[in-house]
Amino acid sequence: MKIKTSNIEDTKKLAEIFASCLPSEGAFVSLFGDIGAGKTAFARCVFKALGVREKITSPSFVILNEYKGAKLPQKEHSAAQTAQKELPQKELPQKELPIYHFDLYRLENEGLETIKEELREYSRPGVLTFVEWADFGAGELPYNRLNIKVSYDEEEFNDSRYYEFEPVGAEYKEFVQKISQKVQSEGLLK
Ligand code: ADP
Ligand code: MG
Repeated sequence: MKIKTSNIEDTKKLAEIFASCLPSEGAFVSLFGDIGAGKTAFARCVFKALGVREKITSPSFVILNEYKGAKLPQKEHSAAQTAQKELPQKELPQKELPIYHFDLYRLENEGLETIKEELREYSRPGVLTFVEWADFGAGELPYNRLNIKVSYDEEEFNDSRYYEFEPVGAEYKEFVQKISQKVQSEGLLK
């Protein structure tokens, strides 16, 4: 699925849809694309949509930033379950997950060794991990993940950006399908 956003506001809307479709156990997201394409911009909008209130900066110099308390939507309970427990959905507690935001660009020189353990550790369920310049993490990225390729038209000097979602593994395919349906049903980003 490839989506064109015409400006940063569109990217924000796409990020909000993305955040609302995230599985409750988190996700591993690898981002590809040139400098200035819009990888950090997208990550920032997703984290904000999940309720992160700290300042969200690019991890390009520090390689890894951590944030606490992404508020992820709960798995939907069936009507029967809800009736049995007499629990209205809105009273279900929200799950809070940690966020790990990597930028591997500088590892081109320093080597992947320096960050390998963290990358593995944050590939597990129960966390939300974003990796910019995932190209440099080859071999250390989990097989099941969502690749997002961010790009722009070199001839067009405007604010359009392309976000191409490539799921690997059944779970991530379902996640991208959900995003795609919501993008269409909300009539956004034609
Ligand atoms: P990267 O992390 O890929 O190097 P950044 O996200 O840091 O890139 O930078 C993208 C820049 O492009 C930001 O200054 C952002 O405001 C700008 N921009 C303009 N239009 C868009 C858009 N449609 N989506 C995302 N960013 C955009
Ligand atoms: Mg960046």
